[in-house]
Amino acid sequence: MEYANHPSWIEINLVQFAKNLSVVRKELGPVRLCLPIKANAYGHGLETIGKAAQMAGIDYLAVAHLQEGIILRRADISIPILVLGAIHEDQVDDLIHFQLDISISSCFKAEKVRNVCKQLGKRCRVHLEVDTGMQRTGVRPETAASLMEYLNAEDCFDVIGVYSHLATSEKENNALVYEQIRAFNELIEQPLFQRRPLIFHMANSGGTVLYPESWYDMVRPSALAFGFFKGNVCAHFEGVAPCFSVKSRISYFKVVKEGMGIGYGHTYTTTKTTRIVTVPIGYGDGYPSRLSNRGEVLIRGKRYPIVGMICMDQFMVDVGQDDAYVGDEVVLLGCQGDEEITIHELAEKIDANPREVLCLFNNRLPRKVYANYEYSGETASTRKGA
Ligand SMILES: *Cc1c(COP(=O)(O)O)cnc(C)c1O
Repeated sequence: MEYANHPSWIEINLVQFAKNLSVVRKELGPVRLCLPIKANAYGHGLETIGKAAQMAGIDYLAVAHLQEGIILRRADISIPILVLGAIHEDQVDDLIHFQLDISISSCFKAEKVRNVCKQLGKRCRVHLEVDTGMQRTGVRPETAASLMEYLNAEDCFDVIGVYSHLATSEKENNALVYEQIRAFNELIEQPLFQRRPLIFHMANSGGTVLYPESWYDMVRPSALAFGFFKGNVCAHFEGVAPCFSVKSRISYFKVVKEGMGIGYGHTYTTTKTTRIVTVPIGYGDGYPSRLSNRGEVLIRGKRYPIVGMICMDQFMVDVGQDDAYVGDEVVLLGCQGDEEITIHELAEKIDANPREVLCLFNNRLPRKVYANYEYSGETASTRKGA
């Protein structure tokens, strides 16, 4: 697709991203950092973020699917990559070929992997996944020991780690989190799991920020690393801030009289003579139509309401009596002047997980990546309090 001079774009601030990683690593001390970058690195761009994370010296990357691991390997990323998702038999060849760490989540899957290894005459790196309460994937703690014995007995397996995943870690002082930690401890304290060095890991962002006892040897905090965990209120990780913005430029300006309907279905009617600007981005780019008549954008450092339905490629904004010109920057997500539209604000308005907001924006929008300080626009470091 041709992106030249497209009027709307996603901005990725790699300076802030690198800062986030360094803040997190400093807080972690000797604990390893694994960055899950599934779903196009939470919308930030898989290869861009994979390379930046490798350059920043993090220990591990994780993805949900084989295909994401292959993209990273083809982008010359050489650090360990763990595929978190449960695998399918026809993927094992490629998992081995691309030197991806495989999640072993059942005895059935372990045998499939062993069979392919034998056929190919190759070894593979695996992490044993234990389900301590998420009920998604992973072997139950009761069967984990026998699976571990199997992995140890077969010489094709390099057992690298044992991990689990927290279901409710964004809640503070939560009983299920403590129960998951207890079940994991009980398992890994067994001599079978202490015999040789293994990387034990469990913490997502919630665990990393709220439950240091879930850190073990490595943590996997994505929302935190991308700077938007819990609206970015995390006392111990000061300086972490979002690095994802969505911007556009006003494409049209008109004055509309009182009592006029705006857009499809005339779902909004002007209450006085006002200035209406058109912004050339819509639900076809992933900006959700549920923000029709509800969302706000920033123009010249001020908030203005979206009026009427968001169309596939554009929407309208009421700027009242203020000045706004064709070509002016419009911020849909991110900072402008002293104002900010946060990922959490959008998530609340459309009743979604903040991660989902980032996944909405699609590849119709070019990603402009800023990797040095020459960038003169708004950055997180010019934000209030960051
Ligand atoms: C996505 C994912 C993470 C990261 O979750 P955040 O809450 O965004 O930090 C960690 N571990 C696993 C297994 C995941 O699937």
